[in-house]
Amino acid sequence: MPLTPFHLGPSFLIGELFEKRINLISILLASVIIDARAFFCFFFGCAGRFHGPLHTFVGATLLALFLSIIIWKSRKFLKQISNKLKIKNDYSYTSIILGSLLGTWSHIILDSFMHLDIIPFWPIKSNFLLGVISNETNYTLCTIALVLGIFIHLQRNRLITLKLSR
Ligand SMILES: [Zn+2]
Repeated sequence: MPLTPFHLGPSFLIGELFEKRINLISILLASVIIDARAFFCFFFGCAGRFHGPLHTFVGATLLALFLSIIIWKSRKFLKQISNKLKIKNDYSYTSIILGSLLGTWSHIILDSFMHLDIIPFWPIKSNFLLGVISNETNYTLCTIALVLGIFIHLQRNRLITLKLSR
C-alpha cells in the first residue's frame, strides 16, 4: 500500500504534466503492476515477505523493462486507445521506458514510507524512507495528485474551462 489504486494519482499527474515525454499508459500500468505478487499472496498466500522482490528498486527496474517491451510491441493497439481517450501520447521507446521506470519507482517510494517488510534498496537491508511521511499524508498526496491530474486532463482537452477573468 498505499492501496494499489492510490498509486494511479501521482502517476496520472506526472503522465499528464509530461505527456509528450512520458507514455501515460506505461506509467499508469507500471505503477500498479508492482502489486501483482502482493495480490496473489493476499489471496493465495506466499512464503516469505508479503511485498517480496518486486518491491525493491532492482525488481521494479527489471519489471519496468519487461513491461516496456510488452507496451512497445502493443503500441499500435494502445495508440488507438490513447486517441479515443484524447491523450496525446508519445509512443517512442524512450517515453515508454521512462513511463515504466517512473511508474514502478514511484510505487516503491510510496510503499517504502508505509511498510515494515519492504527492502527497497536491496541488497542493502535498511529502509530509510520508512515513516518519513505519515500514511495519512501519503494517501492525501496521492489523492491530490489524482485530482490535479484529472483537472489538467480535462482542462487540456477543453472539457472544462477556467474563467480567470470575467
Ligand atoms: Zn505495493
